[in-house]
Amino acid sequence: MTVKLLGIPYDAHSSFLRGPALAPSAIRAALTCGSANWCTESGIDLDPTTNDAWTDLGDLELPDDAADAVELIHRGAADAIADGSPLLSLGGDHMVTWPLVRAVSDRVDGLTILHFDAHPDLYDTLDGDRFSHACPFARIMEEGRVDRLVQLGIRTMNPHQRSQAERFGVEVHELRDWDGVVPPVTGPVYVTIDLDALDPAFAPGVSHHEPGGLSTRQLLDSLRQIGASDAVVVGADVVELNPARDVNDVTAMVAAKIVRELLGLLIG
Ligand code: MN
Ligand code: MN
Repeated sequence: MTVKLLGIPYDAHSSFLRGPALAPSAIRAALTCGSANWCTESGIDLDPTTNDAWTDLGDLELPDDAADAVELIHRGAADAIADGSPLLSLGGDHMVTWPLVRAVSDRVDGLTILHFDAHPDLYDTLDGDRFSHACPFARIMEEGRVDRLVQLGIRTMNPHQRSQAERFGVEVHELRDWDGVVPPVTGPVYVTIDLDALDPAFAPGVSHHEPGGLSTRQLLDSLRQIGASDAVVVGADVVELNPARDVNDVTAMVAAKIVRELLGLLIG
């Protein structure tokens, strides 16, 4: 099995600003810019010229139309993992996680999603749009795609989304109460990282600046805890990088480091 890296350049249903469609190329540029080596913090050397445990499939070509994009992302991801390979996707806005989880859950039963985000993204609709990047986890839970949805980093809960969380049995860990310990997870896990889970001081290149967030170190330590657990990470994505908002590519470099650590988890 070879971990597949797949770019999903889609942001037509971002509610506030467009830009995340530019993220896959910005993250690749950060990965290959020469300022950092290819090793994970645990010492796995991911240099693509010598490590064939992962491969970059490039970007999907996607139209703005949401229903068509959902179908094409689902199909593209399904093709990428048809041989049973783990999948690491580079968004795009968070809408893309809905068809990505569809593809993984088609193959894997009993999936848990570990979701890092400032926002629960559980709106039934936002501004009348059920394809909004504020809605993917409502769609995933309606379709019964996963056994558990565990959310971390949350600091924007409102009454509607609280009722949606109760309706779907979502395990929401609001950041104001979090003790730094990732809840126990076992079995197959999909990790989805919205970069606005991080404090805007660490990751300014996102569309929605929500103060009071995680440090980069806290997020990296969370990934390390997942790696040390009984969970098997079968898929992951990094979403919501908005290069148009970035400062000196610092958020792209944060994304690239998270991508390296996720590749380490997926290679296992
Ligand atoms: Mn999100
Ligand atoms: Mn968010």
